[in-house]
Amino acid sequence: MERALFPPRVPMKPASFRYHAPKTIEEALALLAAYAPDDGRVLAGGQSLVPTMAFRLARPHHLVDINGIEALRRLGVENGKLVIGAGVRHQAFHYPVVEGPLGRLLSAVMRHIAHYPIRTRGTFCGSVAHADPASEWCLVVATLGAEMVARGARGTRIIAAKDFFQGIMTTALEPDELLAEVRLPLLAADTRFGFYEFNRRAGDFAMGMALVTLRLADGVIVAPHVGVGGAETRPRRITAAEALLTSRAPEPAVFRTAAEAASAAIDPLTDAQTNAEYRRDLVATVTRRALEQAAG
Ligand SMILES: Cc1cc2nc3c(=O)[nH]c(=O)nc-3n(C[C@H](O)[C@H](O)[C@H](O)COP(=O)(O)OP(=O)(O)OC[C@H]3O[C@@H](n4cnc5c(N)ncnc54)[C@H](O)[C@@H]3O)c2cc1C
Repeated sequence: MERALFPPRVPMKPASFRYHAPKTIEEALALLAAYAPDDGRVLAGGQSLVPTMAFRLARPHHLVDINGIEALRRLGVENGKLVIGAGVRHQAFHYPVVEGPLGRLLSAVMRHIAHYPIRTRGTFCGSVAHADPASEWCLVVATLGAEMVARGARGTRIIAAKDFFQGIMTTALEPDELLAEVRLPLLAADTRFGFYEFNRRAGDFAMGMALVTLRLADGVIVAPHVGVGGAETRPRRITAAEALLTSRAPEPAVFRTAAEAASAAIDPLTDAQTNAEYRRDLVATVTRRALEQAAG
């Protein structure tokens, strides 16, 4: 279905575009196939896209609004994975959406994303598709090893997290593909987690953050995952830090060594907020604090 809402009679902040409001996934895929070559884009929560359009930093010719597609609001467990459809908003995770550590982890992380009004509109999959290096959901996806389900008129692809994020706001998605859902592996009941992020004001994007999951068996750390975000062009697991934790007792000296390894492993971003040296130092701190939380 197409509604010619734009351009309106009075001048608007964004450049003019055609607005499409499909009701089914198939309709959306057909619209993307037709219009992606003419700078057609998905409109999800609009919390990143609309501000850039208002500043005319983005001038898409077509918007395919997926908010009317009921089938994209799936949120539930299937085959040991939490399936998060493209219509699921950040706020859905306010309370745990699944029993066990994964539900608690998502609720704890969600509180660090932006502010309440933004969380009521922005979507999990929109954040992942947008791939801001400081996105909390992107860090979750990278650390836990999620699968991204990309659908296009030519078929469906499953993309592993390690292959999905390719750089600042750059992913393995093709322009005509819809990130239809993200599948997060459930965590074993005894998984502990820690998340720590630093920013100057509540609600700002993180200048550096770390997410850790681990289990303890016979007093030593088993299967640690250490993810760092906001510090490099993309969030990722730091295997050098994980190796230093595996089979070691959860002690402060072990955490310090692993945190220093994470700090040494990154290629830090510099931006208007801070320089590389500060960010490297910050990564050591956020990683150590996330580890302490997980062990506590
Ligand atoms: C003031 C402010 C503060 C913020 N702070 C944070 C923060 O601390 N942490 C954080 O993570 N985010 C933050 N955000 C961003 C917010 O979380 C957005 O909701 C999120 O980045 C994008 O999700 P969205 O659903 O709004 O996507 P949109 O804005 O609708 O889309 C973003 C981009 O992704 C594409 N896209 C969206 N969904 C899909 C899909 N399913 N398939 C393919 N492509 C898709 C769009 O075409 C567009 O290019 C902030 C935003 C604002 C305005």
